Amino acid sequence: MSARPDELAARPDHGAALQALVGQPSGGPQLSPHAVNAPMIRHWVEAMGDTNPVYVSDRAARDCGHPEAMAPATMLQAWVMRGLRASQLADAARAAGEAEGSGPHDTAMRLLDAEGFTSVVATNCEQHYDRPLVIGDRLMARSYIEEITEPKRTGLGVGRFVTTRLDFTAVPDAEVPEEPSPSEVDAMAAGGERVATMRFRILKFLPPVRAAAAPPQAAPPAARPLRPRPALTQDNRFWFEGALAHKLLIQRCTSCGTLRHPPLPACGVCGALDWDTLEASGRGELYSFVVVHYPQVAAFEYPLPIGLVALEEGTRVVANIEGIAPGALRIGLPLEVRFVDYDDELSLPVFGPAASAHEAMA
Ligand SMILES: [Zn+2]
Repeated sequence: MSARPDELAARPDHGAALQALVGQPSGGPQLSPHAVNAPMIRHWVEAMGDTNPVYVSDRAARDCGHPEAMAPATMLQAWVMRGLRASQLADAARAAGEAEGSGPHDTAMRLLDAEGFTSVVATNCEQHYDRPLVIGDRLMARSYIEEITEPKRTGLGVGRFVTTRLDFTAVPDAEVPEEPSPSEVDAMAAGGERVATMRFRILKFLPPVRAAAAPPQAAPPAARPLRPRPALTQDNRFWFEGALAHKLLIQRCTSCGTLRHPPLPACGVCGALDWDTLEASGRGELYSFVVVHYPQVAAFEYPLPIGLVALEEGTRVVANIEGIAPGALRIGLPLEVRFVDYDDELSLPVFGPAASAHEAMA
């Protein structure tokens, strides 16, 4: 771990003040600038390459048992986003020292900074949908600080997880007055029909000590912290469990046979939800790569070559590359997988020179 125990002991603890903020609104109510509308939906599905007709055709939606066309569920947050210009203005105001927030969210961030947890990373986002959004729905979102955990040790460092919950409600657009005040929006949001809930979690953590500041031969391998845990979901769990069993699995649609990686809930070709897996041979070639030097995370060794490997089955996988000097990496290099057991809970595939290519390179 990057923090020494004495640094942690000296750290101020604002746990009680932080817990007092749990349950409080994390920002003002947000009102979508426009009702759910066909042009926005069309732009979205074109940008995403989603050709499901239920988003653009009432008839296709009725064929699937819905009364009318609907917005893609994952557009949820897009409806209430404030837009690029408003974000730039807010950033500029913050940089100029204006608009120093005094709400519970800003207070929480300041308390966490004061504890030393100045780094931030978004860890996960969960969305629950109560019903499809349809044209004419006007969306409102109210956000709350739902949870601030005790300090936890993570692969990135010690920190607290902060969960913000957004409650989305909708009313018919015709019921929304022109330029409603925040209190009017709040009242409408409270009285509207709940359509979705989103939970957004960040980790505020103690930044790792820069490796450059340490003596060159510091940190023997035994002191290396555990690798960061993957964010397991119902979609990707099989893949990491396969890796624990030293199997490189590829998700396969049982309806049309299309292979896909990374794991997804549905087939991108035919839309089917049923899938099984295929065990990859582990042979492939280097499709692309980067060699990471910075930022350095204490769990990894640097320079850190990361490859995008084209498997012979046709899908690609991101993995560490080992056994090849970073300067010798070339696109098209034949590679072969092996599995590394980092600890009891985490095994991952890494790729190295293919056996046949090994002699040629030697
Ligand atoms: Zn399919």
